[in-house]
Amino acid sequence: MKSIYDLDMNELNDYLKEHNQKPYIANQIFDWLYKKRVASFEEMTNLKKGFRDQLAKDFSYSSIEIIKKQIGKDVYKYLFNLNDDEKIEAVLMFHDYGTSLCISTQVGCNMGCLFCESGRLKKVRNLLSSEMVLQILEIEKDIKKRISHIVIMGIGEPFDNYDEVMKFIRIVNSNKGIDIGARHITISTCGIVPKIIDFANEKTQVNLAISLHGPNNEIRNKIMPINKVYDIKLLIDTVKDYISLTNRRVTFEYIMIDGVNDSISCSNELSALLKGINCYVNLIPYNETNNLSFKKSSNTNIMRFYDILKKNNINVTVRREFGSEVDAACGQLRATN
Ligand code: SAH
Repeated sequence: MKSIYDLDMNELNDYLKEHNQKPYIANQIFDWLYKKRVASFEEMTNLKKGFRDQLAKDFSYSSIEIIKKQIGKDVYKYLFNLNDDEKIEAVLMFHDYGTSLCISTQVGCNMGCLFCESGRLKKVRNLLSSEMVLQILEIEKDIKKRISHIVIMGIGEPFDNYDEVMKFIRIVNSNKGIDIGARHITISTCGIVPKIIDFANEKTQVNLAISLHGPNNEIRNKIMPINKVYDIKLLIDTVKDYISLTNRRVTFEYIMIDGVNDSISCSNELSALLKGINCYVNLIPYNETNNLSFKKSSNTNIMRFYDILKKNNINVTVRREFGSEVDAACGQLRATN
């Protein structure tokens, strides 16, 4: 049965129309779900009893269960059990500007990036938008606080589950729903080019991040199989199109892996590749995992790389490391449970 958390405002409105209910009831239902956060249709006391029963007949009041929580410095890592006993994870990070929650979009992932734990576990299925929404609701219940930022960077490739992820964003962003501003939401892709164009045409203010991780086809082909489908030139040209369509700045994520993509020539090449593009680069020290042999770049190499980008007038930051002590590398918690 479909979960009540799988309906965005439009779908709820259609449902109400079909059942000859007044449109304002959609607001009341969203209010119970996302503001008052009740746990059953029974508690929606301003709806008529007969209609509450109808809702309970047509929709499940689904939930997902936190089965493990690991606490590290400024980071909580959650493992969830889904209704079919599949497991996913979400990571909550405490920043000086607020909290950001990294949510999963699929059980496993088919992109096969060589350095990534999630890719070792092939995709089992897409998550429903309800299962993404519930990651937020359950964790807010756990911490008894509102989360300020969402990053769609957990297990899975969001653009390989496009429609459900877009619905999730609508529910999160709606002022009647979870009400997190679009500019506080970031979606990250390994580079599924046609979906980048679709996403540009959504005309949202949601931030786009691209997992680049290499400055050329040779390196990218070695570590990211998606590059063999959409190569780096096509990807960069598409990002330029995205920027001209949306006028938004794009983030390039670049994990720093020892001896793979952290040389001086890589940094020069990356500078040339990104010259003149409205973007910034987020250098991420690679999070080592027990199962994969890649190593993190030395701090010296990271700073050298950073300095070269800076000298070339590329906006660049080095991301603070979160949670290496709690298996926070993508997919690690799920992989070890
Ligand atoms: N599939 C999407 C989003 C999920 S991965 C994407 O590729 O963007 C989120 C980010 O974490 C990606 O940039 C990914 O390359 C990176 N990542 C994966 N494993 C990592 C690790 N062990 N250490 C650091 N970053 C990692």
